[in-house]
Amino acid sequence: DFCPPEGLIPAAPSPDDTIRPSRLADFIGQDDLRANLKVFLRAALEQGRTLDHSLLYGPPGLGKTTLAQIMASELGVNLVQTTGPVLERCGDLAAIVTNLRRGDILFIDEIHRMPAAVEEILYPAMEDFKLDLIIGQGPGARTVRIDLEPFTLVGATTRLGLLTSPLRDRFGVIFRLEFYGPDELARIVTRAAGILGIAITPDGALAIGQRSRGTPRIAGRLLRRVRDFAVVAGAQTLDGELAAKALARLDVDPHGLDMMDRKILETLIHHYEGGPVGVKTLAVALSEEVRTLEEIYEPYLIQCGLIKRTPRGRVATAKAYAHIKGKLG
Ligand code: ADP
Repeated sequence: DFCPPEGLIPAAPSPDDTIRPSRLADFIGQDDLRANLKVFLRAALEQGRTLDHSLLYGPPGLGKTTLAQIMASELGVNLVQTTGPVLERCGDLAAIVTNLRRGDILFIDEIHRMPAAVEEILYPAMEDFKLDLIIGQGPGARTVRIDLEPFTLVGATTRLGLLTSPLRDRFGVIFRLEFYGPDELARIVTRAAGILGIAITPDGALAIGQRSRGTPRIAGRLLRRVRDFAVVAGAQTLDGELAAKALARLDVDPHGLDMMDRKILETLIHHYEGGPVGVKTLAVALSEEVRTLEEIYEPYLIQCGLIKRTPRGRVATAKAYAHIKGKLG
């Protein structure tokens, strides 16, 4: 018997969970992805097959976990959730996959951070639903092959480029999530406000949507913070003016850039003449991890056209200069 690894112990519910849509119809935005997923789900249901292994990729907070949960609830199957770094040993993965029932979805977040040895035993599990395990050590070691129930692996990653090609090739579908537009985020905020019992006007929702860095998780977080301001101010309804005021106090500028975003631009411009500067140097200058810069901050700054990734390093664009100058007045 294998012991379930720590990652399988249900985590404490996060505020994200309260407002997480559980059906595809409630999932806002990502129109192409949603339309395709709907077809794949319906085909799987009609033919009674398991869904093909699917890979979701995109920056954090765009809805990858939510989509995995939606897939499971639309198909009426169980979802087992874990993350790449938690699967330290092959036994950790074995404990999970041997317990899956037919059609279940195994969701592995941060799948690019799974150790190579674990990844290798995943290949036959994905392809033939077989698990090859080595039992014992040294000359007495032998391999046993275990049959698994057919399941669907849903992997999530912030960095498609970090996935090995054998792993990437074993996914039948690759879904790419894009940053959301302000209107979509306003709809997400309005929906979340409804669930949380917060009265909000359309311009209040838009004010939050515009400042959420294209990211539903940030929209949810800002909504909860702005609500706190509204409560303290004794306001019954959250409107645009109140939202703008609260967000300015939270150091979120009208373009949705937060303190760290601005610090990155300022460091690039003031310390490195706008670049190019290597990401490692930049990370040291900001006392931040390279991974955090690359996965959390840069994608949005690049999407906004504020920085560029070049072979020689990061470069601040003319728009970044204008933004920082505007900020300094
Ligand atoms: P990821 O796994 O990509 O980091 P999550 O799926 O955990 O992101 O989503 C973060 C939060 O944003 C959750 O609270 C979720 O409910 C919300 N969210 C994400 N995408 C959407 C969407 N399209 N519509 C409504 N809410 C969303």
